[in-house]
Amino acid sequence: MFETTSPIDGSFLMNVSRAKAADVDAAVRSAASSAPSWGADGSARATVMRQIANEIRQQARALGTIETLDSGRAIADTAGASVVHSAGLFDYYAGLADKLHGSTVPMGREATALVEREPFGVIAAIAPWNYPLLNAATKIAPIIACGNTLVLKPAEQTPLVTLILARLMQQAGLPDGVVNIVTGFGAEAGAPLVAHPDVGKISFTGSSATGRHIAAEAGRSLKGVVLELGGKSPLVVFEDADLQRAARAAVFSTFMNAGQTCTSCARVLVAHDVLEQFEAHCRAEAASLRVGDPLDPETQIGPIVSVEQLERVRRLTAGVSGEQVAKKEYRPIGGGHFFPPTIVSRFPADSDFAREEIFGPVMAIRSFQSDEEAWSLANDTAYGLAGSVWTSSLHRAEQARRRLQCGIVWINCVHSLSAGTPVSGHKTSGLGIEYGLEAADQYMKVKTTVMMSGAWNSPFATRL
Ligand code: ADP
Repeated sequence: MFETTSPIDGSFLMNVSRAKAADVDAAVRSAASSAPSWGADGSARATVMRQIANEIRQQARALGTIETLDSGRAIADTAGASVVHSAGLFDYYAGLADKLHGSTVPMGREATALVEREPFGVIAAIAPWNYPLLNAATKIAPIIACGNTLVLKPAEQTPLVTLILARLMQQAGLPDGVVNIVTGFGAEAGAPLVAHPDVGKISFTGSSATGRHIAAEAGRSLKGVVLELGGKSPLVVFEDADLQRAARAAVFSTFMNAGQTCTSCARVLVAHDVLEQFEAHCRAEAASLRVGDPLDPETQIGPIVSVEQLERVRRLTAGVSGEQVAKKEYRPIGGGHFFPPTIVSRFPADSDFAREEIFGPVMAIRSFQSDEEAWSLANDTAYGLAGSVWTSSLHRAEQARRRLQCGIVWINCVHSLSAGTPVSGHKTSGLGIEYGLEAADQYMKVKTTVMMSGAWNSPFATRL
């Protein structure tokens, strides 16, 4: 067993099983034995998945409370948007589960080609700690809709809500063995899961460093990987933008979940002429942010998930001078891993602060002089997950779509997504896709069958 503690005040929550290779092997065997029957009937899958969505909605409060205790994310979000989106994913992919048709390819009069998609069997899914319920739903829903079974390892920092979800899925009628949860650490439980010979594909969300490692491991056994990794996303504000709305978006994107969001657009690039005005709007917007006990429904920002992450944020911000922006409402709890919302306006362009994903409540503002400079700064990162652009010019909006090197471009909005909108990391932000029909496509193999009704003649018999 290992201890899981709460980032709110550092208190002990409970002991959780610490899975090792033998437990992972048992989970994969359980998944493999359930795969044939689960893969056989799409409408049965759709029915169970809709029921799971209902159970999630009914248990919003319990799921939210557990997740907040374990992760520190504000309950307004864990029992609110997180539950709505997680249930929505099961509904969306339930709608697909009984519509996985194949196609035919014309091959002349005497042959027919059938193209079908079939499940891989067992998928390994590995999730991070920042949105535990939503991350679990994002993995489970498309994978099981396509008739696969899976073994899911939640992050060691936040294992609890996934265990509750497993119980809800069981209550909803999910057959035993379809979803198997192994709790534990990356090296002890994640690594043997990735390496297991009976796993058909790996779906991972987490840091780029671990993603690289998993892709290399998968390469050795030639397994496919879906990787959703880090980001250092820009939010670009032109002088013709609605500056107040843009500031509101920058504040939300930077500070929600204490900055622990892979698509956070905390690298804010502002047209030089409106820089001061924009900064004033940001300060005004951020002044009323409520930081404190995440179990309080009024709180917007809770603590950082762990001491290690808090130390990382401190290390990355050590060399820069920032302004704490939520002074009045900043109420950390003793023993909790809190970091104050901060705006940094001056920093060296080649520092770790400027280049690395911070994953904390820290906005970095920088100005640009021309449109060309804006696009060039926006793309000046190894990552390519998302970008948000604020302008009233149709031309600039169109340029944003064409010029930004990232998988999601938000124009005059930010974090607007649905279960149907595919998210695909460009550059080092990932491989493969989450959400949308495109995500489901990755969890099915293509099988082509050619049937001949006439007599088959050997090409050897053909003479020139
Ligand atoms: P973080 O998101 O905390 O920066 P990771 O990307 O390492 O860190 O963690 C995301 C998930 O990957 C967690 O569930 C973690 O346990 C798991 N993990 C870490 N290392 C490995 C590994 N070598 N093999 C498989 N899974 C791993």
